[in-house]
Amino acid sequence: MNKLFEHSKSFWVKYSDYVIKENSDGRKYLQAAPEAEPKLYDPIDNFENITLDAVNIGRLCMSQEATESEKHDAIRGFALKYGLLGIMTAIPTTPRFLSYENVFFPKNHFIREESMTVKEYMDGFYPFRKLDIRKKGDEYSWTLEGDRGSVLLGIMTDGRPIETHMSFQREYAERLDWMEEQFIDWAFNLMVVFFYYEDKGGFTERQKEFHRQSMAAFDGLTPTYHVELMDDRPYLVWNFNSLLQGIQLMFSMMLTDEYKPIKFCRNCGKAFIARRYRDKFCSKECSEEWKEKSDS
Ligand SMILES: [Zn+2]
Repeated sequence: MNKLFEHSKSFWVKYSDYVIKENSDGRKYLQAAPEAEPKLYDPIDNFENITLDAVNIGRLCMSQEATESEKHDAIRGFALKYGLLGIMTAIPTTPRFLSYENVFFPKNHFIREESMTVKEYMDGFYPFRKLDIRKKGDEYSWTLEGDRGSVLLGIMTDGRPIETHMSFQREYAERLDWMEEQFIDWAFNLMVVFFYYEDKGGFTERQKEFHRQSMAAFDGLTPTYHVELMDDRPYLVWNFNSLLQGIQLMFSMMLTDEYKPIKFCRNCGKAFIARRYRDKFCSKECSEEWKEKSDS
């Protein structure tokens, strides 16, 4: 595990099943299945693998040969392993948007507007059944359209915003095209790095500049952190309010790792973690296959 995450604790929720649902406009969403069971897990120990999976799904989504249903299966497979990305709390300027009238956005892939009302924003993540949110003092509660009782899953306290817990609700859904775009973004950025260092010698100044600018556009959505005074010394603790932010940070660490960076295998094209900085192949087999190919 990356040392940077040593003392970060943040569980995430995944359901035992996910379905693809269409709204009346024909827009596709990924959502927990009606009977699916929620389960808590801690992504921190597994962030490297989660990130590798995310990049490899992005690579599949970029491919011209993959069909739409193959892409959707891959994204659903990701959710089955790790849950949804938590886009709702990842893109606003603050994940604690409920206490305001409007949600504000820094530059992001999904929403062009600079702001929208909280209701309008949330409707986009609860496309099939809306949450009816009420505020009493400092506390929020909500009911689901058509239901009487309040929903309790959101009341866990772990220091994270209530909005994060709202994204653990069964009714919470993420747009498939948004998820796809996010996976592609990670894969694209690894590709930029791959070609930049692979072909740099043969690049024109303009091509180099293009690659540098593509990379510079990859930013933002950084999780916040705090410093915790533990027994022996103070530690830096990241606050992940979405799985997306966790992957984004982990991916950036892996991309810039001095010794064991994430790379694309030259032979099979899969993302892998290099054991030594110079490694170009994900496995011995791939290295040998490549050699055979280039010898013949
Ligand atoms: Zn390989």
